[in-house]
Amino acid sequence: MDPLCRVHLNWENFRSNLRLLRYISSDLMPVIKADAYGHGARRAAIELEKEGVGWAAAGTLEEAAAVRDAGFSGRIVILLSFLRDADDVELCLRSRLLPLVHRWEDLRVIHEALDGRGGTLGIAFKVETGMNRLGFPLEEVDRAARFMADSGRMRPEVLISHLSVADDPREDAFTRLQCSVFWKSAAILRRYFPGMTCSLNNTAGLLRRESSRKEICRPGLALYGCNPLHGTSEEERGRGLLPVMSVTAPLISTHVLRRGESLGYGRTYIADSDRLIGWAAIGYADGYRRCEAPGRSMCLRGCRVPVIGRVAMQMTCLDLSSLPFSPSAGEDVHVLGGPGNAVTAQEMAHWWGTIPYEVTCALGRNPLAQDDPPATR
Ligand SMILES: *Cc1c(COP(=O)(O)O)cnc(C)c1O
Repeated sequence: MDPLCRVHLNWENFRSNLRLLRYISSDLMPVIKADAYGHGARRAAIELEKEGVGWAAAGTLEEAAAVRDAGFSGRIVILLSFLRDADDVELCLRSRLLPLVHRWEDLRVIHEALDGRGGTLGIAFKVETGMNRLGFPLEEVDRAARFMADSGRMRPEVLISHLSVADDPREDAFTRLQCSVFWKSAAILRRYFPGMTCSLNNTAGLLRRESSRKEICRPGLALYGCNPLHGTSEEERGRGLLPVMSVTAPLISTHVLRRGESLGYGRTYIADSDRLIGWAAIGYADGYRRCEAPGRSMCLRGCRVPVIGRVAMQMTCLDLSSLPFSPSAGEDVHVLGGPGNAVTAQEMAHWWGTIPYEVTCALGRNPLAQDDPPATR
């Protein structure tokens, strides 16, 4: 489905965010899972390559392989790793992908796949520190390390865990607990694998300089210009990040709605005076949420215009009455970003009752909507 709305990506801003983060912590493993939070993982990978970044974290095995095909030469961790058989292991070896090993079954699958064939697979090892999602509990780390050392068919190159509440300064006691379990696990693993690196902090942990120890931080959100510390006492730490995604939709009809007339499905809007309205070609099929929160708006030539009535599948209505100029059909409305008083992903997340991560994932999920000129090297 090739929609009329368009997702624009500002890779210069992406590079600027990357440099800002590298200034705080030089070793990074940028997270480009879920198609780089809706921005396009292949293109993000090319930008990381150009900037000389040595690590990247992708989502699925297929996504990681695509990142390798795109020309990223550094190490790639598969965050959503679920090794099923020898073929998966073979692909990891061939494309030099580091599966995130998080259960005993993974260790067995790798050992069996390589036992006869030979070879050693570099892996990322996940330890459970409080998220209770994926990973080996601290008590099993020594046994797993011994298994890996005895097998000789796998070599942990990086130890990984993920923080649950690094973005909330009021929860710092829990974060400290997670750090402590993490570094205990690191000490155990390093007895067997002294060269192994460590990676714990996400964007929030990185911005708050949670860890003074040497590690490779894994920022996602900040690369795309959003600040996970928004609304907290430490919001200032995310200053200077620039949005990467903007979304436009053309106005495909403008006309007058007479006083007393209603609008759209459910007749949820009734004009209390004559209004100039316009329909923009974006709707919930394009990831623009059908939500009725007050205050929703878009931007036309830098001026805010309120969203009125119900969002339809591919159309949304705007009240254009207050504009100081007369808009014309065919003109692009900025749904997200753009010049002037731009709508931010944070603001849209507030209307939708969610987080900016979901906003860019939702709006960026249709690759046919992406208006992304090819990268130059
Ligand atoms: C998504 C993810 C990150 C990045 O988190 P941000 O809050 O976007 O910086 C880091 N590590 C893991 C394991 C993740 O799943």
